[in-house]
Amino acid sequence: MDTRQGFDLKRHIRTIPDYPKPGILFRDITTLLSNPEAFRAAVDELCSPFQKVRIDHVAGIEARGFIVGGAVAHVLGRGFIPIRKKGKLPHKVIGQEYALEYGVDRIEIHEDALAKGERVLLIDDLIATGGTALAAVELIQRLGAELVAAAFVIDLPDLGGADKLRQAGVKVHSLVGFAGH
Ligand code: AMP
Repeated sequence: MDTRQGFDLKRHIRTIPDYPKPGILFRDITTLLSNPEAFRAAVDELCSPFQKVRIDHVAGIEARGFIVGGAVAHVLGRGFIPIRKKGKLPHKVIGQEYALEYGVDRIEIHEDALAKGERVLLIDDLIATGGTALAAVELIQRLGAELVAAAFVIDLPDLGGADKLRQAGVKVHSLVGFAGH
């Protein structure tokens, strides 16, 4: 595998101020995904620490975690498990609520998606406060699977999500950090 260490991923991420609401700096990865070298470099770097680690499944969080997680699963030669917003999965699910700035949201996983003891790599595009990723970790662990690590293209370290995951005993791998929110 061609791991392009040192590739400048950051310049391929577009920042949109005040989206989806005033004060938010939205880190848009569509510009990274549309560039073949940047997309490949991001996927290769996400996979790089796990090439020699036993992973049974890659789980991705809707929606951008599907794009990146699907590619990671393909490179690692593993199956992909979707973690979706409520009401989207067709079979029996278990769900986990998590706090948003205003109110709560819920993500779900098929109850038969993972077997006890299976080793899972969790993928999303970005970690901010960590609420979404922590809920996903909870779902994976409730199915009896073992979380090997959580990997993200982007970390917003000042929002503390990656630290929260580490405090919960999760290994965190991220490629690009943006200071602030
Ligand atoms: P959080 O639960 O706060 O860690 O938020 C993570 C989820 O929200 C991820 O699925 C991201 O795609 C999305 N998200 C949060 N903040 C941003 C941001 N500034 N730019 C782009 N996506 C974001």
